[in-house]
Amino acid sequence: MTTTITETYGVDPTPTPLALLLLGRQADPNSERGVECPGDLPPASDPDLVERARAAKAALGDRVFILGHHYQRDEVIEFADVTGDSFKLARDAAARPEAEYIVFCGVHFMAESADILTGDAQQVVLPDLAAGCSMADMATAEQVAECWDVLTDAGIADVTVPVSYMNSSADIKAFTGRHGGTICTSSNARRALEWAYEQGQKVLFLPDQHLGRNTAVRDMGFSLDDCVVYNPHKPNGGLTVEQLRDAKMILWRGHCSVHGRFTLDSVNDVRERVPGVNVLVHPECRHEVVAAADMVGSTEYIIKALDAAEPGSKWAIGTELNLVRRLAKAHPDKEVVFLDRAVCFCSTMNRIDLPHLVWALESLVEGRVPNVIKVDPETEKYAKAALDRMLALP
Ligand code: SF4
Repeated sequence: MTTTITETYGVDPTPTPLALLLLGRQADPNSERGVECPGDLPPASDPDLVERARAAKAALGDRVFILGHHYQRDEVIEFADVTGDSFKLARDAAARPEAEYIVFCGVHFMAESADILTGDAQQVVLPDLAAGCSMADMATAEQVAECWDVLTDAGIADVTVPVSYMNSSADIKAFTGRHGGTICTSSNARRALEWAYEQGQKVLFLPDQHLGRNTAVRDMGFSLDDCVVYNPHKPNGGLTVEQLRDAKMILWRGHCSVHGRFTLDSVNDVRERVPGVNVLVHPECRHEVVAAADMVGSTEYIIKALDAAEPGSKWAIGTELNLVRRLAKAHPDKEVVFLDRAVCFCSTMNRIDLPHLVWALESLVEGRVPNVIKVDPETEKYAKAALDRMLALP
């Protein structure tokens, strides 16, 4: 009998109750859910969009620096001064203090991180405020504060170190900084956890349970029983005091809606369809997918693995589809396929399209700074403390 992820880890596959708002005029400043941008967007059918983007970018010159996350559409990546994962982009922005405007073609939490790491004189612009991240929304400041109260009541808060994935809101990063914890990326999660276990006995890992579990079990030799899942929608996280006290790893019940879609069936199916294929997946995938894969690593790792691969080799990639398509195009001498048969874009990343980019750039040319992402000084101070701990990791 096949054991499902729900049975094994208590992960309910029902959608998050914090589903993204449809584009509209509503605002929800307490979440990654966004609002429609004000003003008139150029129509997507405008044949001059590419020319307009070029002209606006040229008019702004060095005053603007455009960042493009790996999961963005080709039409947007074409105008990026630099591409990368969220942390690399935030650092690249910090290294360009002469740029007054950082246009972040990514999602909301990434723009927040860029604001935290860039100078006060720089303004970070998100071309569409509705570009949020469903995973980041799965851990709100109130829920995490409540969880900490539960850990305090169980008598374990003072031996627990929070470790938060880069893919979290500035509020969660600030919580982490306030409680002596660190941020991690998918590249340095193991180092961050090793550091955390030198500081305390337990880790509260936010908000991606899969990255936390995969790192602890696959990379550090923990057992699945060392991990428990804290469900913020249940009293006391759905856990007993004994379960909390016995656990070494307390995983927040969050996941990426893109990487969480890959299943063990996706892996088995592609192995049948493409004999000899190497299955390469991101650690945000479910544990059973990661366990069945040949290689596991961050977006940057995936890109490097393909660069180093032998001509003629075959690859099934478990990450966002825009990136997989670009990798397939960049490596015509290799067979590169998407891990799943179903199309799997990050829908919020895809909200940043050419009309939004043109609108943002032309607004800047006209002297209006649209959709500025600004983290308040108190939140920034503690979030930066957590980011600085990550930067100081050995
Ligand atoms: S790919 Fe996943 S983690 Fe990344 S922005 Fe989209 S929903 Fe969030």
